[in-house]
Amino acid sequence: MAKTIAAVATGNSVSGIGVIRISGDRAIEIAQKVFKALDGTPLSELKGYTAKYGKVYSNGESFDNAVALVFRNPKSYTGEDVVELSVHGGIFIVEKTLETVLAAGAEPAQAGEFTKRAFLNGKIDLAQAEGVAALISAQGQEAAKVSFNLLQGSLSKEISGVLDELINCSSLMAAWVDYPDEEIPELDEDSLKETLQTAKDALEKLLKNYENGIVMTQGVDTAIVGKPNAGKSTLMNMLSGVEKSIVTHIEGTTRDIVENSVRLGNIVLHLSDTAGIRESEDIVESIGIKKAIEKMDAASLVLAVFDSSAELGDEDRMLMNACKGKPCIAVINKTDLPEKIDTNQISSQFDRIVYISAKNNEGTDALEQAIKEQLGVENFDSSQPILANKRQKQCVANAYAHICQALEGAQMGITYDAINVMIDSAVDDLLSLTGKKATEEVVNNIFSRFCVGK
Ligand code: GDP
Repeated sequence: MAKTIAAVATGNSVSGIGVIRISGDRAIEIAQKVFKALDGTPLSELKGYTAKYGKVYSNGESFDNAVALVFRNPKSYTGEDVVELSVHGGIFIVEKTLETVLAAGAEPAQAGEFTKRAFLNGKIDLAQAEGVAALISAQGQEAAKVSFNLLQGSLSKEISGVLDELINCSSLMAAWVDYPDEEIPELDEDSLKETLQTAKDALEKLLKNYENGIVMTQGVDTAIVGKPNAGKSTLMNMLSGVEKSIVTHIEGTTRDIVENSVRLGNIVLHLSDTAGIRESEDIVESIGIKKAIEKMDAASLVLAVFDSSAELGDEDRMLMNACKGKPCIAVINKTDLPEKIDTNQISSQFDRIVYISAKNNEGTDALEQAIKEQLGVENFDSSQPILANKRQKQCVANAYAHICQALEGAQMGITYDAINVMIDSAVDDLLSLTGKKATEEVVNNIFSRFCVGK
């Protein structure tokens, strides 16, 4: 019998209500020791999906009003008996309720243990469980949509479709190889190749969409670079809507990297406003410049800021050079002032140029559009199945490699049993994605990254 676990399911801050979740065979019995309904009905007499209003007690003394919500196995999040106690959301009250529940016989839940139980009890597969984690950490509309689709099983369905075809094909081939004298419909070569090609196309599409999915779900590391006074901090402030970077007239004040995550339309940018790129005698500042170049190298997106009210200088040219071969957008700032900059020189170096006045908050829409184009996500469709993390991508990449081998083998006319080995490997790769064949280590690793209470 698995132990009965309990944890606070709501955040660790003061709020209207706090929820303590209890799951396991003894959930109802334990909750009953702590909670008494006002009408006297014992929780053990309640059907699933039923709530009762009452009080929570510690050592015979009530300490808060509460609602107990009972779920009966298997119709609960974990697939076990579950009771959720909603109390007032003060940190003390919530902690006290949890302590009382633990004293009544529950064990503290580990990180992600409720969702792990849902997975082990077959309520959701591993990809869906990862959807839960992704949904909780989603920072924007698109990330939430993609994660919700993952949780709803969009990726799992796509993978199951491929798996069904492969398993069907593999069992026909195995039967044909093992029992050559039996009346087994022979797999004709064309339909074998067609099945493999269809699987290959489906997996390839998922792999191609991976980067875009990551951009939409996890955000983009973005470096804002440019010579001192070009307006980097002002741009960062415009995007952040808060005064985080120090804006000043004295050159070289943005010495260290200021990090901030902002949402631009449906994309989250993890911004670093770096020190201006230029040669510097000042040690502190030159360290900042080194960091700026490192940041630029590591960033998935670089916003190179130029001051339109000044002529192009050596520092701008240094920047233009440093941007070569990087995913850069030229941002020409201070368009509210008379233009002195030679934009032809800039347009010869950058694929995308955006004109803004950071000070006047002008140009965000154009910047958003340019960023989407640069990242290739302007037509991103969040209803498509998406690979949400490196693990899922690796499983699909492995399966894809095996399918490619099998297809090549089929085209070269190698034996069915050799092809079948490759198909079986691809099947294993996909089963480890959904968790049917994932090792305990992989499963534990996934759930250890969840928060306690989920
Ligand atoms: P940084 O050194 O690149 O971070 O530049 P700052 O953001 O500190 O800006 C330098 C100066 O330019 C400040 O006085 C800003 O107010 C001014 N500035 C920034 N953006 C604009 C703009 O769009 N128009 C005008 N007129 N001034 C700006």
